Amino acid sequence: MLVDTGLGTEDIQRPVPRLSSTFLLMNNFQLRPQETALAQLKSAGYSPNDVRHIVLTHLDFDHAGGVSDFPHATVHVMAEELRAAKERQGFWGVRRYRPVQWSRVAKWQLYEPQGETWNGFQAVKQLKGLPSDILLISLIGHSRGHAGIAIRQSDSWLLHAGDAYVHHSELQYGSVYPGIVEYQGLLDVDKKARIQNQARLRELANNPAAKVHIFCSHDPFELAQLSNV
Ligand SMILES: [Zn+2]
Repeated sequence: MLVDTGLGTEDIQRPVPRLSSTFLLMNNFQLRPQETALAQLKSAGYSPNDVRHIVLTHLDFDHAGGVSDFPHATVHVMAEELRAAKERQGFWGVRRYRPVQWSRVAKWQLYEPQGETWNGFQAVKQLKGLPSDILLISLIGHSRGHAGIAIRQSDSWLLHAGDAYVHHSELQYGSVYPGIVEYQGLLDVDKKARIQNQARLRELANNPAAKVHIFCSHDPFELAQLSNV
C-alpha cells in the first residue's frame, strides 16, 4: 500500500500540460525521475504490480500524479474529494486537480466520513481490502475531502496528516513563515475547518499520552527525522 504518490513518471516527462503552468511557475519543482514513488520502489526491489492499494490524502496534482504509474492498484479516497476533483471549481480548482493524472484509475474505493471517532476526528475505520490498523481520518479544510491516514504501530500510531499543515512549527506552536500562510490561504476551501483541525492535531501532537506521531507531506525536517527511525 502506498499513501499518496507524489508526482509521477508522466508528470516528469511532460510537465506541460499534465501540470498547471501556474504551479510550475510558483513552485520550484525539481522533477527528478529518480524521486518518483515508482523509481524508489523499483530501486528497493519491488515491482509496480506489488502496489495493490493507494490511499490518498487528497487529489491535488502533487499527491496524485503517480497514480498512473500503478494501473493495477485500487485507489482509496474520500468521496467528496473525488467529487471536488471532477468539478474543478474556480481558478484554483482547475489548476490543482488534473484529471489526466487519474482518469485511467480502474478501481476507486470511495468513503464518507463517519461518526466513529479517532482521537476526536471523524474516521473511516475499515478500508476495503486493507487491515483494520489503517484508518482514514477526516481533515477537511485544505480541500473538500482532505484526509489523514493513521497506521497503528504496536502501542502507538503514525498519522500522515497530508496538507493539514505544511511545516512542523505549525504543529508545535501554531506559527509559520508568512509566505507559507499565504500559500495555504490560496488553496484553502474552508479556512475555519483547516484551522480547527490543525489546532486539534496540535493538541494531539503535544500530548505524549496519546502516542501519536504526526507528520505532513511537505516538511523536509520531518522526512529526515522519520528516515532516520
Ligand atoms: Zn494539497
